[in-house]
Amino acid sequence: MHGLLGFALLPACAAVLVAQDPQPFSPPKTAPPIVTPGRTNSDPPSDAIVLFDGKDLSRWRTDNGGPPKWIVRDGYMEVAPGAGDIMTADKFGDVQLYIEWATPAVVKGEGQERGNSGVFLMGRYEVQVLDSYANETYFHGQAGSVYKQYAPLVNASRKPGEWQAYDIIFRAPRFDEQGKVTDRARVTVFHNGVLIQNNVEIYGTTYNDRPALYTAHPAEESLKLQDHHNPVRYRNIWIRRL
Ligand code: MG
Repeated sequence: MHGLLGFALLPACAAVLVAQDPQPFSPPKTAPPIVTPGRTNSDPPSDAIVLFDGKDLSRWRTDNGGPPKWIVRDGYMEVAPGAGDIMTADKFGDVQLYIEWATPAVVKGEGQERGNSGVFLMGRYEVQVLDSYANETYFHGQAGSVYKQYAPLVNASRKPGEWQAYDIIFRAPRFDEQGKVTDRARVTVFHNGVLIQNNVEIYGTTYNDRPALYTAHPAEESLKLQDHHNPVRYRNIWIRRL
């Protein structure tokens, strides 16, 4: 009882003040760069790298470095089932990514077999693409999940065949010299403008059949889009290094 009484007599604010780091004293020395935004929030701003503008796959490669066989038509690209995943020639670490996608208008299959693809940050960490409009599957495998790690906060899916968008903010993991993760990756995702992942801490590389696990990798890696044997479409993909 003595200890408790002593604690209770301390001014409540004292503990709070001691526990907090003060705000840094000096103000920022450089002005934030001026960026011209797009006309809409889906248009690339002036400092974005446009990864796909609807015309060609010149910024994309197959797993083994060859030209991708995905279909490009009418301003979008479409997974050619069996052609394999595609990855960016450029490599990225911390990024803001904007990407539009559509699952097939004609619904085939169910669960994970319906409009499955995926946005793999650094080629490893999957934000799931799936037709999750009235399509049941495990919650941490539906559209906008960090696959097998986090379900989306809400299901903001549009109907099959309609264009949808992800705004993704990703912080790459950090590793020490021994290859041990010191800071896990973090991701924030908006689905059609709705917050569905709020700065969640990624557990490691996405696996289908075992728990996520970190393996050390370079500070920048290719962005990958998944061929999951469904003709999912993508368009208007742009990225900003942070
Ligand atoms: Mg997938």
